[in-house]
Amino acid sequence: MRIFRINSIIWAIIIWASIVGTSSAKIEGVNIFNHNKYNIETIRIGNITYISLTDFNRLINSRLKWDPFSATATIDAGETIIKITMYSPYVIVGDKVYNLIYRSVFQDGALFVPLKEFVDLSNNILSGELIYYPDRKRLDYLPRLYNILDLNSEQKTNGYLITIFLSKTLKYDYILTDEGWLNITIYGGKVDTSKMVRYDLKPAVKSILAYQFEKSAQLSFRLKNRKASITINSRENPDRITVSINTSTNASLSAIPTWRKNKIELIVIDPGHGGQDDGAVGRKYHTKEKDVALDISKRLAKILKKKGLRVELTREKDVFIPLGERTKFANRIGADLFVSIHANASPKASPRGSETFFLARAKNDEARAVAALENSAIRFEETDNSAFNKKDDLSFILMDIVQNEYLKESSDLSETIQRHIKRNVDIPDRGIDQAGFYVLNNAFMPAVLVETAFISNPKEEKLLRKSSFRQKMAEGIAAGILDFKQKYQYSGKK
Ligand SMILES: [Zn+2]
Repeated sequence: MRIFRINSIIWAIIIWASIVGTSSAKIEGVNIFNHNKYNIETIRIGNITYISLTDFNRLINSRLKWDPFSATATIDAGETIIKITMYSPYVIVGDKVYNLIYRSVFQDGALFVPLKEFVDLSNNILSGELIYYPDRKRLDYLPRLYNILDLNSEQKTNGYLITIFLSKTLKYDYILTDEGWLNITIYGGKVDTSKMVRYDLKPAVKSILAYQFEKSAQLSFRLKNRKASITINSRENPDRITVSINTSTNASLSAIPTWRKNKIELIVIDPGHGGQDDGAVGRKYHTKEKDVALDISKRLAKILKKKGLRVELTREKDVFIPLGERTKFANRIGADLFVSIHANASPKASPRGSETFFLARAKNDEARAVAALENSAIRFEETDNSAFNKKDDLSFILMDIVQNEYLKESSDLSETIQRHIKRNVDIPDRGIDQAGFYVLNNAFMPAVLVETAFISNPKEEKLLRKSSFRQKMAEGIAAGILDFKQKYQYSGKK
């Protein structure tokens, strides 16, 4: 008898509405972005104003479908699907249900929803913004302004060219996974995620994913030919990012050698900071992190070379190397391990000890703080992108783009190194942790970052100034690397 009950509710409302009386009026809908104006039908029942769903839909430029059987209207607003059923106070948005105070009303063949309530709800669930001015009888709509506009794919003689059209020049970064996903992070990018995934870039691309983060957007392309070599460029007039997929050669991914577990021979040591980037500076003696890091790195290189390993440093002098260049260098020369050397710092003088990080989503606030500190070197590289000027923003971006193929190995390596540091030097052991370090990002090999000691702690700053301490530290890290090599080379793992 359910149907009967619903019918009686409908009749009750219709009868009530006719008793109270309805009056209709037009208001003006304005799209603030393109200045399009729309006549919007409203009706008043009692003292509640209802808006025509059809006109609302035109204003926000979405698609409206009406299913007569369920008496349900569906608004497809791109990233959001909204369902409204006739004479029901419930509005379904994705998998959530919102309960409006006033029910939708069907009149003269059109569905009306309570204007103020519906505008409030829309502002909560849509990316664009609606502002209702009752006195001026006007409803403004400010759509979200996307700067990632369009995608295109063309066949070329040696492969494909994918173009990402932008409304302005945006910085980007990319990573190609072993599974053949090309992930492009566009800083400051604003993307209509649902529009992007609807593009068909076959046969070059099997599928597309799009993500909107607070400070960046990510486009992910699953490439048909994962052995293809990829070249990415930024171009102007119009602003765009081009991805050349060369399928004619059988070159490996971006010419980056795959990591050889059974052959750990070439180690890249990355002395943190350098040049205009001092890193952290000691409280008591004003010791610079960049100098300590370089000295320990050189000592570490010497020990490893003696043990028969090939070692390359990302810098051998007091020069500035952009963070991205450090792993690029390691990738280019086909390094087997990447070890970044730093000294930790804290706003408080008391924290002390050594700690080794591997790349992952920073899981606690402290690890995030360390990542933000080390990542801040990027502000020396970026002058024109405000997103890079704020440390917190940056660490946020980084946590979004974190990708590491060698998480397990990186975690193992950090654990082994930390164990040996603990054995070698008499400072507190802070263990290992994971954090989203930019410098480790894009490393196509196990990568770790060693915070040798706290330069902000006067006691440890003093230790860092001692060559005997730096030597012991280098020996500890070296022993960890050698241990790791041993384990992975002879463990029989493939
Ligand atoms: Zn550092």
